[in-house]
Amino acid sequence: MKNKLIAANWKMNLSAVQSAELFKQCASLAQTVPSDLIICPPATYLQMGNSMLESSGVHLGAQNVNQNLAGAYTGELSASMLKDCGCAFVIIGHSERRTQFNESDEIIAAKVKAAIENSLTPILCIGESENQRTLGLTNSFLTYQIDSALSLVDKTQMKNLVIAYEPIWAIGTNKTPSIAQIQQTMTTIVKHMYKKYGENFTDSSVHMLYGGSVSDTNCQAILSLDVVDGCLVGGASLNFEKFEKICQASV
Ligand code: PGA
Repeated sequence: MKNKLIAANWKMNLSAVQSAELFKQCASLAQTVPSDLIICPPATYLQMGNSMLESSGVHLGAQNVNQNLAGAYTGELSASMLKDCGCAFVIIGHSERRTQFNESDEIIAAKVKAAIENSLTPILCIGESENQRTLGLTNSFLTYQIDSALSLVDKTQMKNLVIAYEPIWAIGTNKTPSIAQIQQTMTTIVKHMYKKYGENFTDSSVHMLYGGSVSDTNCQAILSLDVVDGCLVGGASLNFEKFEKICQASV
């Protein structure tokens, strides 16, 4: 059985001093929990994370990557630059980037390709809106998002992928789908991956995370689902006590 994967998405939060403290706490937490941890801090703290997490076993992830390899893209960071900072993972397709930064399905597919070709593991975020759920469109929309995001990568490259199912309406809202809904929706995603990618989609290479208002109180029930390999945690990852409880629940 693979280890659970707990990914922290700090988003655009924390000062350098606060980040240093949290990196330090997470580095020692990793020694006491059997799950794998990924910290995705703001890009300006990646170098700090790289040196502070060194030899702790905690992985470093970026929150974004540009789809181009290099060039005149003011303000952007390439996949190889993220690798140079010690990143092993990168979040791609987060709903905040899709909606607030107009990232299209095409851009997301190009980012996934750039990440994989530079040996960064994408944490691909997919999720339906509340309206889509109400209309019964959840499953078809999620499978569309997966196929579109993976359209530029070869089946044989489908190793070391993380898919984070994050219903848009659950992000930062304290609302989550019911445990039965999470189980049902994520089972649909897994079945789709098997159908589409066959033997390249193996239990050990693809992790399925749930994200959206994961807290110290709901984590146990979510992480006990066999289809859930871990969580992508936003708000609760900024509070060490809460994050610690989530990581402990992932045993
Ligand atoms: P949340 O964010 O845990 O604050 O809902 C999750 C995410 O956006 O990845």
